[in-house]
This record gives sequence, C-alpha cells and structure tokens, in this order.
Amino acid sequence: MKGLKGKNALVTGASSGIGQAIAIRLAREGVNVAINYRSSPEDAADTAEMMDKACGDIRGCGVKDLLVQGDVSQEDDVVEMINTVIETFGGLDILVNNAGIQMESPTHETKTDNFSKVIAVNLTGSYLCAREAIKHFLNRDSQGIIINISSVHEIIPRPQYLSYSVSKGGMGNLTKTLALEYASKKIRVNGIAPGATITPINEAWINDPEEKAKVKSHIPMGRAGTSEEMAAGVAFLASDEAAYITGQTLFIDGGLTLYHDFSEPWSA
Ligand code: NAP
Repeated sequence: MKGLKGKNALVTGASSGIGQAIAIRLAREGVNVAINYRSSPEDAADTAEMMDKACGDIRGCGVKDLLVQGDVSQEDDVVEMINTVIETFGGLDILVNNAGIQMESPTHETKTDNFSKVIAVNLTGSYLCAREAIKHFLNRDSQGIIINISSVHEIIPRPQYLSYSVSKGGMGNLTKTLALEYASKKIRVNGIAPGATITPINEAWINDPEEKAKVKSHIPMGRAGTSEEMAAGVAFLASDEAAYITGQTLFIDGGLTLYHDFSEPWSA
C-alpha cells in the first residue's frame, strides 16, 4: 500500500492474535516492525519468524524487526520502549495500540483491582504509548500515525465485562480527541473496531463447536473474523491511501454492529 515501505512501526501486544497479524502484514508492506511483548519472548520471536516468512527473506526485502519487552500499563516501561524503538530504528512513524485484556464478572462482584487493571492496560496503556509517540512526532517534520485497536464494544454494551466496555468506549474518544488535537501537526489518529475474531483471547469459544455456533448466529455474515482481516484495515489506515482520514474508527465486524435482529421485519 502507498507510503508504507521503509516506515518504522511499533505494535504493542504483537506476540499473539491480532497484534501478531498486524506485525506480519506491516512487514509484508515493507515496514520495519518493533514487536512489543509482555510475557513471552518466545511468542514474540515467533512473530519475527512469521514476518520473515511473509517477507520472503527479511534481510532481502530490507525490513528490520526488533523485540521489545514492556508492560504498556507501566509508564516507565512505555517510555523506555518507545526510546529503544526510536534509537534502534532511527525514528518511529506508526504506533499501533493493540495490547488488550478482558475480564468477566458480574459488575456487583467485580473487584476494584480487576476493574482498574483492564482500564490500565487497554486505555491508560494506549494513552501512554500515544503520548510518548506524539512527543517524538512533534520533534520532526514527517507525519506520525496512531492506530488504536478498539472493539465493537466501543459502541455495543457488554454486560459482565464492564471494564472492557468502558475501556473500548474510552478508546473511541481517545482516537477522536487526539485526532482533533494534532490534526494540524501532521499526525493522523484512527482506530479499527474488530468484531468476534479468532484469537487466543476467545479461547472460551473458538474450540467449542456449540459455543462457536452461538457466536456465529449473532453475526450477519455468519462467521467470525480473522486476524488478517483486522490487519488489512490497519495497513490501509496507516498507508497514504488513508491520507485524508483522521479521527475515525473502522468497524471490521461482519455486520455485527448492524442490529442483526432487524434483518427480518419484526414489527408492523
Ligand atoms: P490476544 O491474542 O490475547 O493478544 C493480546 C496481546 O496483548 C498479547 O500479546 C498479550 O501479551 C498482550 N498484552 C496483554 N497485556 C499487555 C500489557 N500489559 N502490555 C503489553 N502487552 C500486553 O488478544 P487479541 O484478540 O489478539 O486482542 C488484541 C486486541 O484486539 C485487544 O486490544 C482486544 O481488545 C482487541 N479485540 C479483539 C477481539 C477478538 O475477538 N479477538 C475483538 C475486538 C477487539 P501477554 O500474553 O504476554 O500478556
């Protein structure tokens, strides 16, 4: 895609699922990718290996990779991580705020620590990474791009996952507010909102045929999405094809946000 080759990106939580697919897709577009991981250097190394394969020979296609450990909810980790990427690659052009967690519990039984943890990773972590990236973007003349990985739960309430819903609702506002604040500074901020996607975060239903059928029954297109389909949206928004797009969340959800119940008339 236009304008991606030779750019430098950081993808948070790139050791698994959607983040891993984004790293691979960006590498295929000729982007140098820093793979942030929290707990598993082995999984991050797998991402680098898959980037390698996707690219043919990573050296041959001139794409660099870098493994950077860091917990996005920890300010010191984020500052160090962004500095490492800038020093190693010589700059940062694209930040993908992908790292995310979810916890299920009825709201009246939810412990404050658990609520706060989800907000700290999904929302505060995205703010911290964006803030540090923007400091760097403002210090130079070329454009900066931030892509936030939100969720259909940016707009669909999700009972028993209050912290997750609130974090993704906040993500929508993070995207819009940062986009407006920095629109005149060559910084574009957008998001994607995945629907149900086949990744380890959904292990509760992806390997259970009955549960999977239940999930599919709510999706107008009749199937869950793939990480690669999410990564394609990120590549587009990061590219110059999207040069005039900022402050938007692209819903990639097989129609999940189209009110499936209304696919047949149910009132006169
Ligand atoms: P996943 O496979 O569980 O991957 C999540 C990644 O985030 C892992 O690499 C994880 O690393 C990392 N991570 C978690 N906490 C972190 C922290 N504090 N600092 C740095 N990295 C951290 O989940 P996924 O489905 O790919 O989800 C990726 C994003 O897509 C999330 O923001 C999620 O909310 C969003 N999303 C997913 C779906 C879906 O259906 N899959 C739908 C809508 C939105 P560790 O394992 O080491 O913690």
